[in-house]
Amino acid sequence: MRIDKLLANTGYGSRKEVKKLLKQGAVEIGGKKVKSGAAQVDPDAEEVIVLGEVLEYREFIYLLMNKPQGVISATVDEMHETVLDILEFEDAVREPFPVGRLDKDTEGLLLLTNDGKFAHALTSPKKGVTKTYEAIINQEVTEEDISAFSNGVVLEDGYHTKPADLQVKDHAATEISLTITEGKFHQVKRMFEAVGKKVLFLKRISIGSLTLDETLEPGEYRDMTEKEVKELL
Ligand code: URA
Repeated sequence: MRIDKLLANTGYGSRKEVKKLLKQGAVEIGGKKVKSGAAQVDPDAEEVIVLGEVLEYREFIYLLMNKPQGVISATVDEMHETVLDILEFEDAVREPFPVGRLDKDTEGLLLLTNDGKFAHALTSPKKGVTKTYEAIINQEVTEEDISAFSNGVVLEDGYHTKPADLQVKDHAATEISLTITEGKFHQVKRMFEAVGKKVLFLKRISIGSLTLDETLEPGEYRDMTEKEVKELL
């Protein structure tokens, strides 16, 4: 992979900061100084030294994506574009997979990793990691809905959801935020169906302590920082 990518991945700053480090002559690959961000490195086979210290290569990849609508959160799909199709080649080759699912028409925060333990810790029902969504509903959301959601609602298949925090965001009471601790199939849409309403737009804005990076346009992604990874676990 490119040395600038490796350095950005391992916490040496943005691509711009990494470029500066390289220009300063602070980076060596296998004992040789490199100044170009495009220089190729195999971090498993070659020693990389930055500012006199051996770089510790991160075994896993952790990506934070603003998933766009119209894309499937799966690794392969014969018919539709998947979130993996959005990735740059050098990230895709590390075979990340989406942590949980967002529907094709849902946008927002989606994590991708090749670290199975990390994915499990975030999706295991036992952990009850919170997920917050913003949505637009086809009708006014009432105090009764808020109260029903806080007690859990019964879905069409008889499942009684865990308590959820529903908040109204606008005067017309059709824009809401909803925090749930589960990840059942189409859960948010089905919870609103249970109170006779329809979700018109859905966006996930946070998972646990991690909030969607608003500088990312739909379809853009970045590496998670080590701090973000640690805080989620
Ligand atoms: N709930 C839904 O209904 N859809 C999603 O994509 C995520 C949560």
